Amino acid sequence: MSTTEVVVVGGGIIGLSIAWRCAQRGLAVTVHDDGGQDGAWYAAAGMLAPAGEAGFGQKALTELLLESAGRWPGFAAELGREAGIDVGFDRTGTLAVALSADDLAEAQRLWAYRQGLGLGVSPLVPSRLRDLEPALSPRLRGGAHAPDDRQVDPRRVVAALRAVLGRAVVRRRADVAATGVPVVIAAGCGTAALTGLPVRPVKGLVLRLRGAPGLLRHVVSGWADGRHVYLVPRADGEVIVGATQEERLDSTVTAGQVLDLLRAATDLVPELGECELTETVVRHRPATPDNAPLLGVHTGGRIVAAGHHRNGVLLAPVTADLIAELVATGKADPLLDAFAPGRFA
Ligand SMILES: Cc1cc2nc3c(=O)[nH]c(=O)nc-3n(C[C@H](O)[C@H](O)[C@H](O)COP(=O)(O)OP(=O)(O)OC[C@H]3O[C@@H](n4cnc5c(N)ncnc54)[C@H](O)[C@@H]3O)c2cc1C
Repeated sequence: MSTTEVVVVGGGIIGLSIAWRCAQRGLAVTVHDDGGQDGAWYAAAGMLAPAGEAGFGQKALTELLLESAGRWPGFAAELGREAGIDVGFDRTGTLAVALSADDLAEAQRLWAYRQGLGLGVSPLVPSRLRDLEPALSPRLRGGAHAPDDRQVDPRRVVAALRAVLGRAVVRRRADVAATGVPVVIAAGCGTAALTGLPVRPVKGLVLRLRGAPGLLRHVVSGWADGRHVYLVPRADGEVIVGATQEERLDSTVTAGQVLDLLRAATDLVPELGECELTETVVRHRPATPDNAPLLGVHTGGRIVAAGHHRNGVLLAPVTADLIAELVATGKADPLLDAFAPGRFA
């Protein structure tokens, strides 16, 4: 297939990134977004963490995460320049930390696995951790530094993409996406209804705190008495605390979930208790049966780019590049092979 025109269904971070790359290739692109509640990107913390997200038995996904992480610096710089918006790309890296001896044993298993994959993960003793982040609790048993993990601000990224795409983004709900021109379906959790593919919503809650700028410099990802929490500091003093992960459809914020996140967060960084709680946000991650994305041609020649689950922000650059190439030239990069939309049929 090669074309000069394309419709992208879904104006979340994946659909807009694809549309931008298609437009740069000279394609006439229109994005149809239902304009309902903002997508998962609105809650996303923006961690670009290939080391932090490399899970047991997910080799192909880890390779894709690494490939996309390598594309982020160029993507952020180019987008920021075109839109005139700083997207908050930050290279400080992640500190993974463990509160108790049990937390440390659990974390060390994962760090060893990630080191075995050749990922940059260096164990650190508590005193060294506190040299790097003085606000960390003196009770921490140990940690590790992942210097190659990055972060970006997803709300700024989407604002920048909307700015560069301008009137190419229209408010329209697609049903079966029969438009007569090539279609890319990148509708997050809405992809299941449009295609019949197995994309399920996974509920996630994040909190936003506001404190003094500089309280934290690194992203902190930690275990506190068996509870996992991450803390993502922005330059202006905001700290994102996340995230719950539940197989649920509702968007209720419960006191218990907020309590669990704040308890774990303040166990790791006690001073966070002094911050203002400014926002609680629930959105649903679009997940698949193997928790890896669906990328490529589906039935009827429609292209699908969905199911990015916990890593849609990290995977936006590689998804956009590969899908735009597929749309413009009909060529499927070999990186797409492991992510065929029909693999669960
Ligand atoms: C709490 C939380 C924290 C996260 N943290 C991170 C993180 O730190 N790093 C990371 O990489 N990822 C993170 N993620 C995951 C990331 O947000 C998602 O993977 C990503 O947003 C998926 O992008 P998407 O564009 O496919 O879907 P979405 O962002 O959900 O956007 C889909 C869009 O499609 C529209 N749509 C749906 N159906 C239709 C239809 N029929 N017609 C027209 N439009 C439609 C929706 O309105 C929406 O605008 C997090 C997610 C959550 C919930």
